[in-house]
Amino acid sequence: MSVLIYVELDNGSIKKTSLEAVAFGSKVAEKIGEKAVVLAIGHAASAELEKAGNYGASKVLHAADAKLTHENAMAYADVLVQAASQESSKVIILAKSGLGDALAARAAAKLKAGIVSGVTALPEIGDSFQVTRSIFTGKAFATTEIKSDIKILVVRKNAIEIDDSPVSTVQAEITAFTPPLRDEDFQASVSKVEKASSELSLTEAEIIVSGGRGMKGPENWQPLIDLAKALGAATGCSKPVSDLDWRPHHEHIGQTGIKVAPNLYIACGISGAIQHLAGVNGSKCIVVINKDPEAPFFKAADYGIIGDVFEILPKLTEAAKSLK
Ligand SMILES: Cc1cc2nc3c(=O)[nH]c(=O)nc-3n(C[C@H](O)[C@H](O)[C@H](O)COP(=O)(O)OP(=O)(O)OC[C@H]3O[C@@H](n4cnc5c(N)ncnc54)[C@H](O)[C@@H]3O)c2cc1C
Repeated sequence: MSVLIYVELDNGSIKKTSLEAVAFGSKVAEKIGEKAVVLAIGHAASAELEKAGNYGASKVLHAADAKLTHENAMAYADVLVQAASQESSKVIILAKSGLGDALAARAAAKLKAGIVSGVTALPEIGDSFQVTRSIFTGKAFATTEIKSDIKILVVRKNAIEIDDSPVSTVQAEITAFTPPLRDEDFQASVSKVEKASSELSLTEAEIIVSGGRGMKGPENWQPLIDLAKALGAATGCSKPVSDLDWRPHHEHIGQTGIKVAPNLYIACGISGAIQHLAGVNGSKCIVVINKDPEAPFFKAADYGIIGDVFEILPKLTEAAKSLK
């Protein structure tokens, strides 16, 4: 028996959210006295896959068939189910993402497994699992009991804290996994992927500097970009900003955009409408810069700076540079 953790790859590297899922899954495995096995699908070097050992996995199944180069939810879900069956996995863990949710739902249907998505903490384990998940776009938590034989948990970013230092000295054994692939899973397949131009992925970023209509126009974004560069941060924006084409749509954060959960979210000239907050309330620390002391965002902020964003941003950038 085992706990199976699916890791997402990005250009041959394991995504940080997936390493968190490995750490999470390894803790669950420890609690139930099983081993943690990782499944990686797509191209990745062995040295990269060995990282899973640092977070407690004892084995990595690597499915590297050329047909699996591009993400394909149907084929990947089938590979996941076959891995679960080979490893007699009673618990399957995935990191929350579009792909993670798609695979989890398909695998749950195939395995008749109970599934909880948006998990925020390690489950309480008894005869069943008591699982806490985030609901109502992060405004409340629900506890769900899973009684099924096989359980699938889709874990939110920051549900478990990890850093670059290994938490385990386990040497993960890398094994090629070559399950039969079904032609019917490739009726629709991705032929080409063009990456959005942003250097850092918003969903993976540790720090995000985000701008709203208070930035006044696209020509004023440089001070925000300078701060993002100084901090090694990704850039985001509010919906009106992307609707106005001031910034690309892939930067739009909120209820109808990307949901982010960085360690630090710096909001510049964003009012803090409920639809924007819905996308950022998973952030660990929120800093708001706004000239209006009544701006609703201050209520959700850990730190607030009341003032003109164009005066404050260069000062923050200087401070960030001098700290380096
Ligand atoms: C169904 C629906 C879905 C939506 N989904 C989303 C979503 O996903 N994401 C999203 O962001 N919005 C979403 N919205 C829109 C949302 O309701 C708000 O209208 C939007 O978030 C406001 O954007 P903003 O804060 O950039 O602009 P504004 O509300 O115009 O706020 C600008 C802020 O900048 C401040 N400011 C101005 N000048 C300066 C300065 N020089 N220095 C410092 N501060 C300054 C102002 O005080 C103000 O607080 C949605 C709306 C609906 C109805």
